[in-house]
Amino acid sequence: MSTIRSICVYCGSSPGNDPAYLNAGEQLGAAIAAANIKLIFGGGTNGIMGAVARGVLQAGGEVGAIIPRFLTTRETTHDAMKIFNDLTIVETMHERKQSMFDRSDAFVALPGGLGTVEEIIEIMTWAQLGQHRKPIVFANVKNFWAPMLGMIDHMERVGFLHSRSLIQPIVVDEVENIVAAIQAAAVPEATAEGVSSVIEKM
Ligand code: AMP
Repeated sequence: MSTIRSICVYCGSSPGNDPAYLNAGEQLGAAIAAANIKLIFGGGTNGIMGAVARGVLQAGGEVGAIIPRFLTTRETTHDAMKIFNDLTIVETMHERKQSMFDRSDAFVALPGGLGTVEEIIEIMTWAQLGQHRKPIVFANVKNFWAPMLGMIDHMERVGFLHSRSLIQPIVVDEVENIVAAIQAAAVPEATAEGVSSVIEKM
């Protein structure tokens, strides 16, 4: 049985200017639902965020949405949020990020803007500091993440990555391969519900 029960997806609150990005979002959502895994995400219904959530829900999957109150009228609307039956409204960005981390067994970054970058970088910094070993995936749709991957390599070359072995993001070019890549990389004791899944196996 898979030890991955929830996947956090970070992605743009905008759609980008190539339909491939929205399609990738919907496709990833459907794949997460098909694997019987819960989506954890930031609760926005616009852009790629909305596409991922719709992809999950249209495929009959489960979504955990976590959004700060001040964004409930910017990244979504009160009506649009009614599609979520597991909706958590928090007061701050930090609460949102902590809750998304705690409730997720793995992290995926689809294309997005500064918010997406901030979120996935923070998850990598926590891995670098040895705070978790949950899989981290760059969904490299149309090579979107090439500059970021180049930057990480550059930091390593010039001696600023002090724990490269702890920062091993998985780069996946094809969206349909993301869930399998995460399941292959899962470390049972590092999962959010890892303890119970280990006990179940005994
Ligand atoms: P963006 O990629 O800029 O469209 O943002 C994607 C998501 O990241 C949105 O839900 C934003 O609210 C969120 N976000 C924006 N800035 C930050 C930040 N500093 N920390 C965490 N999340 C953020």
